[in-house]
Amino acid sequence: MRLGLGAKFTLTVLTILAGTMAANTLYFLNTATEFHEKQLVERGRALGRLISLISPDAILGFDFLLLNDYTREVSSQRDVVYGVILSPKGDPISSYVNDSDPLIQKRLGPGKQKDISTLLKRLEGESDLIQLVFPISHNDVVLGRFLVGISRESLQSEFRRQLIIQMLVLTTLVLFLSAAIHIVFRFNVLYPIQQLIAASQKLGRGQYAPVEVKSADELGLLARAFNAMVEAVREEQAKLHRQANFDILTGLPNRMMALDRIAHEISRAKRSGERFAMFFIDLDNFKDVNDSLGHAVGDELLVATGARVLATLRDADTVARLGGDEFLVLAPDVAGEVQVEEIAERLIRTISEPQDLNGRKVVARCSVGIALFPENGETVETLMANADNAMYQAKAAGQGSAIFFTEEMNTRLRERMQMEQDLNVAIELGQLALHFQPIFDSGGQRHRGAEVLLRWRHPERGNISPVDFIPLAESTGQIVSIGDWVLEQACSNWYKWHAAGIDAGFLAVNISRIQFRKRFSKRLAELMSTYAIPPHALELEITESVLLDDHHQVAEELSSLRAVGVNLSLDDFGTGYSSLSYLKRFQFDVLKIDRSFITGLPDSADDVLLVKAILAMAKGLDLKVVAEGVETRSQLDFVTAHGCDLTQGYLLAKPMDEEAYVNFIKNLKPGVQPRSLAAAR
Ligand code: C2E
Ligand code: MG
Ligand code: MG
Repeated sequence: MRLGLGAKFTLTVLTILAGTMAANTLYFLNTATEFHEKQLVERGRALGRLISLISPDAILGFDFLLLNDYTREVSSQRDVVYGVILSPKGDPISSYVNDSDPLIQKRLGPGKQKDISTLLKRLEGESDLIQLVFPISHNDVVLGRFLVGISRESLQSEFRRQLIIQMLVLTTLVLFLSAAIHIVFRFNVLYPIQQLIAASQKLGRGQYAPVEVKSADELGLLARAFNAMVEAVREEQAKLHRQANFDILTGLPNRMMALDRIAHEISRAKRSGERFAMFFIDLDNFKDVNDSLGHAVGDELLVATGARVLATLRDADTVARLGGDEFLVLAPDVAGEVQVEEIAERLIRTISEPQDLNGRKVVARCSVGIALFPENGETVETLMANADNAMYQAKAAGQGSAIFFTEEMNTRLRERMQMEQDLNVAIELGQLALHFQPIFDSGGQRHRGAEVLLRWRHPERGNISPVDFIPLAESTGQIVSIGDWVLEQACSNWYKWHAAGIDAGFLAVNISRIQFRKRFSKRLAELMSTYAIPPHALELEITESVLLDDHHQVAEELSSLRAVGVNLSLDDFGTGYSSLSYLKRFQFDVLKIDRSFITGLPDSADDVLLVKAILAMAKGLDLKVVAEGVETRSQLDFVTAHGCDLTQGYLLAKPMDEEAYVNFIKNLKPGVQPRSLAAAR
């Protein structure tokens, strides 16, 4: 049996109280009994002495009647059982015995003759009897003895009576006290404890109910401490809930919460038959903002974007930050596509309004992918995937676009995934090959080298352009192994040609931004030593995007490359985030003007102006300039006339496979123009 605290406490109190009170009562009763016994003995003694004083005369006078009176008188006293006068020889001279006394009755036995000597013998040592003996003498002559027997019976019965009375009083008192203590204990201790237990159980179930503080004692302090703990737990839980469901930076719901809201919205929309729209928003080139303006500004931009989006939405709409620069807007109960389009336009407009961040004017652009319920999916996963997919299409369509999801996108996505898988085995299956596009000096007179361009011969899809598969390989990271393969092939080709006595000039290899991050210079030095490539035989083409990465790391990698001795060429100049300061900071050898600027020459005034400016600046910085994509004679003449050092383009030669390139070099005669150029004259 399990006892509660109240029962234990009351039982303990009861035991202690009963024990102490019983001991006290027993002590008191014993003392009282002893006192009364002493009084009894004293009374017996007084009687005995009196009889022993007055009886000699009666004995000497043989006045037995008087002696009998004495003994009767003595025996008639309360508690006296017998009074006997014995001769010196021990024979009874006079005796009186109280026959009605139960002790005498017991010792005599029923119907037995009263024999005083036998009775006295039987009564010897009887504990219930006080037996006193007094000598009777006259002038120092012993005349006999006087024996008095006093019963303790009345004493004992009084003791028992008192004991019963005391026990009753005591029990009543103990019970009353215990009940009183129990009630006090129950209200002052048990009740607050039970309240604390109930509150703790509620706390365990996530209900934060404080308890009432009723006293200033330890229990009151405990209740106060408990309430403080409840508050701390509540705050901690709220914090955890915020951390688990809200984005710390922007304070918006995070991905977890967004998924939950979508699930909720799906079941709501299913019941009501409404439609809802999901907008997947991704900031364009956010990494560049982070890299060029710093992470603090990047963070500020995210916070400001979240706040702006929130401000343009209805109360029922949800905006969440999914991570990085991705936001999600959930717009329930939309009437039709027109309304959804309006929301998307509003989102794009507000996000792209110029804003002042940390003293800088920043214009953020974004791409928006839209998925509708129920048309574009009925589960959270499908809707998310489709909105995400539409967002990628919006990205591809250009900055600031919003695109509705279509089934066709799914097909494209599947194709992309298939292409990614195929690309994984493209090297092993020998589907990748290098092509070489000759580069000439100004005027197209002398062959100087070639740009190495990658080709993918897909068994089913035919030739896939690097413009299609390089960005894919970059996004999946496959570019690292592919780029390494290109570099090794280029080195091994150069080595082979050199060994065969063919002067191929330099080889310009395109290096991806992703590849560049992976301790590229070390690998390059390794390959150059393996294939004995002299530094002047290699040129590395890097796009401006590389320079947007961590400046310190890029500068370090570039200076390592510089130490290797290869030429560094800045590819597609003018198309990216060109900054003149980059050109100065990272010492390049060559600058390649992008084909888009050459196309308009010499008629487009803008292109003329730009190309002239680029050339003048390059001269100032002591850079060699390559004009890319020269397709016409007039373009060639223009760049030559304005001091361009090298030219590359279909006019001079198209990219060709290895065999064709080797033949091309073999057929070159010093100072003789390429055949296509001669034909163009
Ligand atoms: P890029 O580095 O700017 O290469 C020049 C591109 O312009 C090549 O396209 C070339 O064929 C093309 N081109 C050259 N002259 C003319 C012309 O007169 N007219 C026209 N219309 N086009 C011309 P391609 O081979 O399709 O390569 C496209 C891009 O793919 C390259 O641009 C480069 O960024 C990338 N790429 C090619 N191979 C590799 C590689 O091995 N590694 C990396 N990371 N990227 C590569
Ligand atoms: Mg290139
Ligand atoms: Mg280029």
